[in-house]
Amino acid sequence: VLKVFKFGGASVKDACSVRNMGDILRAYENDDLVVVVSAMGKTTNTLEKILRLSRAASTEATNVYEQLVGYHRIIVGELFKDAPNTPAPELTKLWQELWDKLQMTHLAYDEHYDQTVSYGELISTTIISHYLRKIGIEHQHVDVRKLITTNNKFRAAEPEWELTAANVKLAFTQSAQRIMLTQGFIGATSNRRTTTLGREGSDFTAAILAWSLDAAEVVIWKDVPGLLNADPKRFPQAEKLNKISYSEAIELAYYGATVIHPKTIKPLENKRIPLKVQSFVNPLDPPSIISGDRSEDGALPCFIVKENQIMISLRPRDFSLLNEWHLHYLFGVFDQIGMNIHVMQVSARSLTVCLDFEERLPEIIIQMIGSNYEIRYNTALTLFTIRHYTEQIALDFAKKGEVLLEQRSRTTLQLVVRVSS
Ligand code: ASP
Ligand code: MG
Repeated sequence: VLKVFKFGGASVKDACSVRNMGDILRAYENDDLVVVVSAMGKTTNTLEKILRLSRAASTEATNVYEQLVGYHRIIVGELFKDAPNTPAPELTKLWQELWDKLQMTHLAYDEHYDQTVSYGELISTTIISHYLRKIGIEHQHVDVRKLITTNNKFRAAEPEWELTAANVKLAFTQSAQRIMLTQGFIGATSNRRTTTLGREGSDFTAAILAWSLDAAEVVIWKDVPGLLNADPKRFPQAEKLNKISYSEAIELAYYGATVIHPKTIKPLENKRIPLKVQSFVNPLDPPSIISGDRSEDGALPCFIVKENQIMISLRPRDFSLLNEWHLHYLFGVFDQIGMNIHVMQVSARSLTVCLDFEERLPEIIIQMIGSNYEIRYNTALTLFTIRHYTEQIALDFAKKGEVLLEQRSRTTLQLVVRVSS
């Protein structure tokens, strides 16, 4: 059976995790596997930082770069205690390439980002490939940039689906190996310029490859027992969702659950490929399953919290009622600014929207439409979204502070609250 596995940053963050990954792969020796791996630990964040420093011509860039090299060196040192030089020549070459590319500050930011931040994945798969070979797990290490062809929207590249599927199928059928190891998050344009698919893009990579190969399933290996109905850091009583439908997963993601990106769900839904979220800590525990099965949707309420929200109310200065023309105009402006609205409410005289706070947002809005609209805003708010709420839950959450906006549908309750400290 053909399965696509995805190991995220946390599942390859140190030598111990990489060994654990090897053990998991060994347990699936009767399956054909495509294994998608992210950059190690928080490498992508660090690369973003190095890129910023390099572009600001800061001498700090070298230090942070050296720290990142050091972090990887420790992992390599532990994995290859007996043969420390195994992956060294290849890695030295990659680190050097990365350094050279960091200097290409003449590039536009987004393009420069993709040419450099992509090295996190190239380096991690190189290390892991050497390690798997060392422990006798035969596989083919493929550069995903030869498979996933994208447009040239740097930092948010979109795959050319048909072309990609043809590449992937060909590579997979030609490979003599049962396991194909490759990078998440990255791709390339048709003229071989490296692109990235957006933060957390490795899940999407797994979905693209599964879609291309009509895989039997996708498994995302995580440090949590599966999909949870709340962030366990915030709700210690968070529970596991055994199974939810594709639509429910998309709804949860839409409201800001860091479940799985909707981009990842769509291609799988189109081909009815189930997605499992499974614990790499307890790999024998049953996973959470996202599939076409809706039977357990709503079995548990789901809690999504977004902090640091700004709520903005706009009211026409000319005393007119807020009609369709105003809405059309205002949403045009929101789109132009790139505002991503989480809740909105319309009344006779005003439109209220709630979104992530950004320092310059009020200023920009006032500048653009302040002469025609009276603008009021509140910051430091929290947006609670509860799917499948009960009356009791609604009451409990209303006690969290001053409720500035409430919106309900049959399935979803949203509260914008100034949380009392
Ligand atoms: N390494 C990338 C990130 O941290 C992609 C991923 O892990 O999914 O965003
Ligand atoms: Mg990740």
